Amino acid sequence: MRNILFFLIILGSCTSKQQTEKSASPMTWYKGNTHVHTTLCGHADSHPDTVAGWYLDRGYNFLILSEHNQFIDPKSVNLPRNRRKDFILIPGEEVTDYKHVHTTAMNIDREVPVKYPTDLSKWKDAPAWNIKPFLMQIHSDSIRSVGGIPILNHPNWQSGVAASEIEQVKGLNMIELHNGHPDAYNFGNEKHASMEQKWDSLLTAGRRIYGVSSDDAHHFKKWGVDESNPGRGWVMVHSNDLTPDAITDAMIQGDFYASSGVMLSEIIVSEKGYEIHVDEEATYKETESPFVVGYKKDSGEEGFVIEYITDRGEIIMKKSSILAKVEIPEGINYMRGKVTYSRKRSSDYEQFFAWTQPIFLK
Ligand SMILES: [Zn+2]
Ligand SMILES: [Zn+2]
Repeated sequence: MRNILFFLIILGSCTSKQQTEKSASPMTWYKGNTHVHTTLCGHADSHPDTVAGWYLDRGYNFLILSEHNQFIDPKSVNLPRNRRKDFILIPGEEVTDYKHVHTTAMNIDREVPVKYPTDLSKWKDAPAWNIKPFLMQIHSDSIRSVGGIPILNHPNWQSGVAASEIEQVKGLNMIELHNGHPDAYNFGNEKHASMEQKWDSLLTAGRRIYGVSSDDAHHFKKWGVDESNPGRGWVMVHSNDLTPDAITDAMIQGDFYASSGVMLSEIIVSEKGYEIHVDEEATYKETESPFVVGYKKDSGEEGFVIEYITDRGEIIMKKSSILAKVEIPEGINYMRGKVTYSRKRSSDYEQFFAWTQPIFLK
């Protein structure tokens, strides 16, 4: 029998529920953003209260105010007293370092004490030393030392980090596959492979890494595709409780998917296969919002495509449909799913995505 180390079954509606009471704590899909900035960093335009209020007003269930090297205590954030009860702030920050290495610290209770070696000046300027794996390791270890969970941010921003560098970091199990900042280059550029290529390289190398989608928004006053606005990337987390610990635990287990617009109604993974159902109505609703930004293509075909991807990024099934099921082949290391929704706008096509998490088979 196949040795399935990771076995997951997810059932249910993916629409985020805004109920005020839960009786038997049924599994629910919660919409959240793990990465956003405020005036406290000096280069974003809105106060933490305003930023949190934006997500509260738009149906999100959780938010991390991930300020650069600053812990924002959720207790210090003022939200309306009579607000809906299914919205929480998960405490965090963005550990921000040299060489464009940034890491979200999820679910911490204090500012992360980043622990550099005492001979800082020696390694900082060492030309022959590839410093990025070292910095990422310091971030991961420092975040975990205060009970937090690290998410490596925007690996394609500026000089970025290569998959071979991420692969060396121990204790890192989540990366931003999609980041809504206009300079994040999720789909690659002249310096970087696409984030999906990097993810597949890591998974092929045997790393158990889940993919996150976030906003990294800085601007809530000026709007445009070239601005760093909110509403472009989120995660849908499957959990029976909406608490910082429950959401964090679900993400650690891979019980979530990353989205830039596509919503799902079911993900079913069993010994026999992997099955994805698209929630068309919820996807149309999300992608008609003024906040999402599609990935531009000059050619294409409208509609939904579901793909299943395995070792080295090989696509083993591609189906134009809102439902696709595949049998898990023998001898693979991992399998993940991806849904693309394409639509035509003037002469261009725009694409929106949902990326489901890999199952690991070895
Ligand atoms: Zn950053
Ligand atoms: Zn950021």
